Amino acid sequence: VNPADTLVHALADAVARTPDRTALAYFDGRMGYRELDELSGSVAGHLAARGVERGDRVAVMLQNSPHFVLALFGAWKAGATVVPVNPMYKSGEVRHVLHDAGAAALVCSDRAWDGYLREAAADSPVRVVLTACERDLQTRDDPRVLAFERLPLDEGADDLVAVARQGHGAPADRVLGPSDIALISYTSGTSGTPKGATNTHGNIMYNAERQRTGLALPEAPVYFALAPLFHITGMVCQLAACLNSAGTLVLAYRFEAGVVLEAFAEHRPLYTVGPSTAFMALAAHPDVTPEHFSSFANISSGGAPLPPALVERFRAGFGPYIRNGYGLTECTAPCASVPPGLEAPVDPASGTLAVGVPGPESVVRIVDETGQEVPFGEQGEILVSGPQVVPGYWRRPEATAETFPDGELRTGDIGFMDEDGWLYVVDRKKDMINASGFKVWPREVEDVLHTHPAVREAAVVGIPDGYRGETVMAYISLRPGATEDPGALAAYCKERLAAYKYPRRVEILPDLPKTASGKILRRELRSRSKDSG
Ligand code: ATP
Repeated sequence: VNPADTLVHALADAVARTPDRTALAYFDGRMGYRELDELSGSVAGHLAARGVERGDRVAVMLQNSPHFVLALFGAWKAGATVVPVNPMYKSGEVRHVLHDAGAAALVCSDRAWDGYLREAAADSPVRVVLTACERDLQTRDDPRVLAFERLPLDEGADDLVAVARQGHGAPADRVLGPSDIALISYTSGTSGTPKGATNTHGNIMYNAERQRTGLALPEAPVYFALAPLFHITGMVCQLAACLNSAGTLVLAYRFEAGVVLEAFAEHRPLYTVGPSTAFMALAAHPDVTPEHFSSFANISSGGAPLPPALVERFRAGFGPYIRNGYGLTECTAPCASVPPGLEAPVDPASGTLAVGVPGPESVVRIVDETGQEVPFGEQGEILVSGPQVVPGYWRRPEATAETFPDGELRTGDIGFMDEDGWLYVVDRKKDMINASGFKVWPREVEDVLHTHPAVREAAVVGIPDGYRGETVMAYISLRPGATEDPGALAAYCKERLAAYKYPRRVEILPDLPKTASGKILRRELRSRSKDSG
């Protein structure tokens, strides 16, 4: 296989071969490959005419909509680097990203611009603003059309769709190559201030191409974008992988279980990837039936721990097997996945589900505190090198040197590898709970809680304890209609885990706090436990 240099090249190939094939589907709207190419070319021409230069940064702060894709290709065709920004970010968070990335342009929803972004961007480096009227599904305000009329805007911002329709051509002198930075992806900050990982076009194309060949999907597959495109999993495993295969990408604004199930029934997708919490929400929806999943050849979970009990519950209830996959923003989404035709084994000692095997050109090493490689089966920090590992963080030489010594990524995750080459992720190093000197890994306790029929979501954190130093606390959300006493859940764990591991406190919440990419925020739960004493 000879992958295209960049997604812009892949788009041009698709236009040459199948110009009228649907590239994007959004509720009742469709956009073909040629149309996507022409409209994004016009966005590029506009950005260039407004002074956006090769290598400049264009921040894109949109949900999963065709506008996102127009802005992405428009920026790339203008030679720029895209900075995806989570649309749920508040003023201070956006300001940090705009300044840190030195963004020259911003593409965002008109509501957000009118609401708070104009002020947030006022003292930023942003010189060009494009806004898009993305209808908000929550208001049920006619989201099902691609033809967006323009809402009244203040001067200073141009409408993205109007600009796309102006028919400017893309500048001819801005062709990018594999080593150019495609994205500055800010980590979601579950572990501190967001840092920008610099994903190159080569990083993205490697993982997109590996997915195409690895999953052996047919030509022009229909992908459903379950994960948000502003997060690396959605960007690479869905958008890049799908458009690189000249497929159809179905977009549905943002995750809402009922809307997603409707879209599955309408578009009959072949493939999707999302965080395990999305599958938990789909499995708990009152309307869900096995028929909703009958079109899928593959379903993958990525970016967050996958409880083995969810895999079994899903297969028994709906048919498909959820394949695990492991990755980080810093390695452009996956670096290990479950090969087709195989199922991930569960480690008999710990009950951990394997995340997969490293890709053919990726090297995973497990090392101890002194940097020595540990034998098979022993735990240590996971280090990754390979074509998908980013060159570093944007303008952070010290953090780059610390996280990427000699170009190898220190993941901060503890894991082990078995003799057959399966990789297991135990947990994040910094989430370890130290209870009277015993190590407790939250994920192991969460996996046990997930086997309880009443549990929908579980998150385990360490809380300060006068006697033990730290003790184990579990936060739970229940499945619809379930009732369970916190004490009974603690007792359930006590029967199944060593005495120092079972949760001494259990609290039931309606929902657990999550990042926009669907990851449960243990950090927020830890501060909640402090607030509530
Ligand atoms: P930050 O790095 O700022 O904390 P983040 O957690 O959102 O933000 P990501 O790059 O999205 O950053 O997440 C990568 C992390 O997700 C991994 O380091 C690992 O801890 C976890 N992870 C990803 N896939 C899996 C998996 N299959 N099983 C267990 N954990 C996983």
